[in-house]
Amino acid sequence: ATTVAADDAGPGAAALAARSAGEGGAEAGAGSGGGALFAVLRDCLSGARTVESVIAELEDSGLRGLGGAGFPAGRKWRIVREEPGPRLMAVNIDEGEPGTFKDRYYLERNPRQFIEGMLIAAWAVGIDDIYVYLRDEYHACRKLLQRELERLAPAEPRIHLRRGAGAYICGEESAMIESIEGKRGMPRLRPPFVAQKGLFGRPTLEHNFETLYWVPEILAKGAKWFASHGRHGRKGLRSFSVSGRVKLPGVKLAPAGITAQELIDEYCGGMLDGHQLYAYLPGGASGGILPASMANIALDFDTLQPYGCFIGSAAIIVLSQHDSARAAAGNMMRFFRHESCGQCTPCRAGTAKAVGLIEQPVWDASLLGELSQVMRDASICGLGQAAPNPVDCVLKYFPHEVIR
Ligand code: SF4
Repeated sequence: ATTVAADDAGPGAAALAARSAGEGGAEAGAGSGGGALFAVLRDCLSGARTVESVIAELEDSGLRGLGGAGFPAGRKWRIVREEPGPRLMAVNIDEGEPGTFKDRYYLERNPRQFIEGMLIAAWAVGIDDIYVYLRDEYHACRKLLQRELERLAPAEPRIHLRRGAGAYICGEESAMIESIEGKRGMPRLRPPFVAQKGLFGRPTLEHNFETLYWVPEILAKGAKWFASHGRHGRKGLRSFSVSGRVKLPGVKLAPAGITAQELIDEYCGGMLDGHQLYAYLPGGASGGILPASMANIALDFDTLQPYGCFIGSAAIIVLSQHDSARAAAGNMMRFFRHESCGQCTPCRAGTAKAVGLIEQPVWDASLLGELSQVMRDASICGLGQAAPNPVDCVLKYFPHEVIR
């Protein structure tokens, strides 16, 4: 683990902002959507903005946790702020959900906007120490982030940069916290929730990278600006990581509520030549699989639950007639079996059992259905609870592939 912090308490956040302003000045594309460097943070520290006004702005914008859980960011700040100090913060840049690469995309291009958002959150919530948990495969990002963070020190809050070790489960907030504490990354039973008893037993504000990335821009441009985007009755912007059989894969910043078909046609140049849309995964490995006939559903938090799916970190994987939903589901279940932390039986044994069942030429729908139910009901964390999603979707939407 690497710690990027001065051992002694520095001259404080105000000095940090002053120093940053002196070093950076106005810099295109850095912070607050291209305005002066750390301009919003300086407003906060100088008293031009109050904590209440900042949190209210975030609430009005509708910004939600973009790691996958979708918890309203402003409400989370209020909850942690009301807890007794010292309060800590954990930032998740583990980005392990298959098909997801948006955090890396923004981190490589504009680390300072993220840093500013992180420091604004720390100021608003009253954070003493920040722990940034970075996926170890992101070597170049680590160097870049280290360099940017070193420019800030000495300062308060102290910022510690920690390296993940490649476990998918460490993207789960409580497993990440265990890992930061130096233990094996295994999810905790809740309650107590991380907001009350998180890192080192202290109240902890936990955020995904991208949630913090949007904070300065929303505050600079206003809640209305963010909320004015959206389609099909949804509000805000979403960063879709699109991969698979499209002409232009990549990170697509698009209105919340856009459909998969619209995303493919308007943002990805359409399907690859010789490929027709057959199926798509709306939320990486754990968000399920939907057929082409359902490519007109608004993609956002809460819109996919009726179909047994969820958007999660907005990783859209596009399959064509050359692919099979069955093969995709098999691949994912083997992945979950491998990545299960093994702590609880429904997930540890259930993923292994499911792999055995779906390797049969014909699937036993009733046995798989029972197994899914047990895993959903009795697994400790989201990995075990969501692992059956792809298999359930294949049974529901692609029975011709698995049932004769
Ligand atoms: Fe570990 Fe799976 Fe249980 Fe989560 S559901 S705690 S990953 S065994």
